[in-house]
Amino acid sequence: MQTTAVVIGAGHAGLAMSRRLTERSIDHLVLERGEVANSWRTQRWPTLRLLTPNWQTRLPGHDYAGDDPDGFMPVADVVATLTRYARLVGAPMRTETTVRTVRAAPGGFEILANGDVLCARAVVLATGACNLPAIPGVADAIPRSVTTLTPLTYHHPGQLPDGRVLVVGASATGVQLAAEIHRSGRPVTLAAGEHVRLPRTYRARDIFWWLEATGLLAERYDQVDDLTRARHLPSPQLTGTPEAVTTDLNTLTAMGIRIAGRLGRIADGVAQFSGSLANTCALADLKMNRFLTRADQWATTAGLDDELPPPHRFAPTSVDPLTPLELDLTSGEITTILWATGFRPDHSWLDIPVRDRTGRIRHDGGVVTSAPGLYLLGMPVLRTRASTYIHGAAGDSDALAGHLHSYLSSRHR
Ligand SMILES: Cc1cc2nc3c(=O)[nH]c(=O)nc-3n(C[C@H](O)[C@H](O)[C@H](O)COP(=O)(O)OP(=O)(O)OC[C@H]3O[C@@H](n4cnc5c(N)ncnc54)[C@H](O)[C@@H]3O)c2cc1C
Repeated sequence: MQTTAVVIGAGHAGLAMSRRLTERSIDHLVLERGEVANSWRTQRWPTLRLLTPNWQTRLPGHDYAGDDPDGFMPVADVVATLTRYARLVGAPMRTETTVRTVRAAPGGFEILANGDVLCARAVVLATGACNLPAIPGVADAIPRSVTTLTPLTYHHPGQLPDGRVLVVGASATGVQLAAEIHRSGRPVTLAAGEHVRLPRTYRARDIFWWLEATGLLAERYDQVDDLTRARHLPSPQLTGTPEAVTTDLNTLTAMGIRIAGRLGRIADGVAQFSGSLANTCALADLKMNRFLTRADQWATTAGLDDELPPPHRFAPTSVDPLTPLELDLTSGEITTILWATGFRPDHSWLDIPVRDRTGRIRHDGGVVTSAPGLYLLGMPVLRTRASTYIHGAAGDSDALAGHLHSYLSSRHR
């Protein structure tokens, strides 16, 4: 079968791209291994809520129209939103269709899916940035008596054995799951490496309002000082709750969660934590305050100081001087380790030499320059800092569909 373009993945990114291709009358097909929003249906834990506010969950041709713009969507509502969006877009789609191979072919690409071969002049990879858990090598040294989980296999605290839980990673996933597991009555130790501290609200506005208003989310990938670092930055320590509470290390300590430094090594069954937790926290505080200063300056320039409550600063992260540096994983105290150490994409089925030695696709703002006609969408800081979030797909899909259109036209001439 022949089509002009194939989009792989029917998450929000693939659906946004389908909309953009339709706008440009480019004949295409969206291939999806599950149903629309498959990642949200099958790979996220049920109590997850978006950390971005509802008003920001906008896609090309679709704004949030519910009655709770300042709330945070539970997973089920994300699935419902994307399912409605797929209908709105009218995406030409084949679900339950797993792409096994994409390879170069005369005039474009060959896509092998469910035993069929499709030919397309352009391919858009929208298969997600979070298909697999990123687990550090130290995991190999965990004693077999300890149960290990990842955010992809975690569903609820009831599935964990009794005993203390070590959550490794204090970014959005880690702080949320540490709090949830602690509330279930299990003691929790949270190993915190480098993290991004942000308050949920500042001067009576949600932090994402400030991130958008100050222009930070609009910063382009080719203007960011250290792009590799920006693309690998941990997610902010934020949770979406109906009460819009801040979930930082101070909050978690006050709940009774024990905070340790970065998990560096496991030797002879003993987990060793970095002694630099105080420095790591001081750096996170400093960066948060830098952003708040930028926000205050922006508010003054925009003439909003009379409308907003006055600027203020949050208490520095308080670090217990008796923070444990070691935990014996063979003693039976720790029964579970939950890796909240990030995610990585899975493009292992891509049979085109466009990946670097870490397996990541080399691209220029989503344009895979070494394979003309191949595009990548839905990656952190793909074209702007907003690319990391759902609403960033609007600008990214527009730019890439424009490039794809020009590419097809130039080949036609
Ligand atoms: C825990 C977590 C919380 C997040 N919270 C937020 C948030 O609060 N706000 C926000 O804006 N963003 C959030 N994100 C980030 C981002 O919005 C999501 O990662 C989003 O799902 C990415 O959308 P996508 O369309 O790029 O990929 P996905 O939603 O992952 O969609 C990719 C699709 O491709 C399909 N697919 C994959 N491989 C194949 C194949 N070989 N063949 C066919 N189909 C395939 C998958 O089944 C899937 O449906 C969060 C991410 C995670 C992991």
